[in-house]
Amino acid sequence: MDSHRINQLTHQRINQSRRDTDMKIVAIDKKDWEKGLDRLREAYRLIGPVKEDRYHYFRELPQGQAPDFDFFNTRISAKEIVYPQSEDLFEYTLDETKEDYHLLKEVEKDYSPKAVLGIRPCDAKAVELVKLNFDTDDYKDPYWLRAWEATTFVGLACDSPCSTCFCTTAGCGPYHEEGLDVLLADDGDRYVAKVLTEKGENFMKAAGWTEGAEAEARFESGKSAAEEKIVSTVSTEKLRSADTLALHGNEEMWEDISFSCINCGTCTFVCPTCWCFDIQDEVHGKQGRRMRNWDSCMFPIFTVHTTGHNPRGTKLQRVRQRFMHKLKYFVDKYDAGIMCVGCGRCVQQCPVNIDIRRVCDLMDRYGATDACAVEG
Ligand code: SF4
Ligand code: SF4
Repeated sequence: MDSHRINQLTHQRINQSRRDTDMKIVAIDKKDWEKGLDRLREAYRLIGPVKEDRYHYFRELPQGQAPDFDFFNTRISAKEIVYPQSEDLFEYTLDETKEDYHLLKEVEKDYSPKAVLGIRPCDAKAVELVKLNFDTDDYKDPYWLRAWEATTFVGLACDSPCSTCFCTTAGCGPYHEEGLDVLLADDGDRYVAKVLTEKGENFMKAAGWTEGAEAEARFESGKSAAEEKIVSTVSTEKLRSADTLALHGNEEMWEDISFSCINCGTCTFVCPTCWCFDIQDEVHGKQGRRMRNWDSCMFPIFTVHTTGHNPRGTKLQRVRQRFMHKLKYFVDKYDAGIMCVGCGRCVQQCPVNIDIRRVCDLMDRYGATDACAVEG
């Protein structure tokens, strides 16, 4: 299949994940917010940002608890809502007296409708990028897909981006709509909601929020104002034409980038677009379970073969893999931009200040000045 056809299919897959509806804007008086949430609880499990100690995390919102929208971004991304950090897949018994001894039984899970309120546009776009891995022509991950199908994504436009956000040069933005069913914007004593999909329409009806509003201008002015606040950028224009082998082989550059890394894995765990996992069996007494856990290409044992050989046995190789995957292999394979939405979490939380913006700029310099000349 030629690369043009692969790109067409990739974009089709992204677009299939949204069933466009006639876009409309609805006003939600803040006085009616909590009443609407109560109505929603009859049809959805609600999840939203909650402050714990100094940071916000996505948590299920019990009756009487509203999402706390007074936040920049959550400490960990929203990927865990569809793709939990640890997920039981099967259970079994090792008790030979039991009839189902040694049989794997699928663990029952709750795929009832849920809605995530206040997801930032960068995290929603990240779900679309991750979907490229879990929903392919050859492989459909049943756990990820069932959870994704059950989820309605209600975004909150980002009017106060952090100094580390660089979404506007990473294929995203503070009012970006990709991956969202509804986009909310704070408008003083009301929220205005752009309803983007049929899922979003059903959500708004269930809440009883149906009053139309002439607020397109709020979205347009809010978008421009928020974009102007984003001063952090990355250069990506030349990545596609960069020579993969030359980039991979520049040991001096990778030595410099990886020198201070302690392979803690923080960058991968907080990242909304990192999708690697490991499957493990855990047995307690005679009861066993097979689980899927997030894993990290930064960990030394991630690639160890059963022979003991490790193809990525050094820190340099692991750091190189993380950045080559996000900024070069993904770009080459999907032609859907970089595998990063510019949320800035890894920049903020890396304990030794390794900065993907610097790495991206270094890699981008490898691109041909005239990509057409190289590709043609
Ligand atoms: S967070 Fe920083 S130190 Fe930790 S693995 Fe990532 S790059 Fe290395
Ligand atoms: S690589 Fe860093 S900035 Fe990019 S999406 Fe992941 S955590 Fe956010």
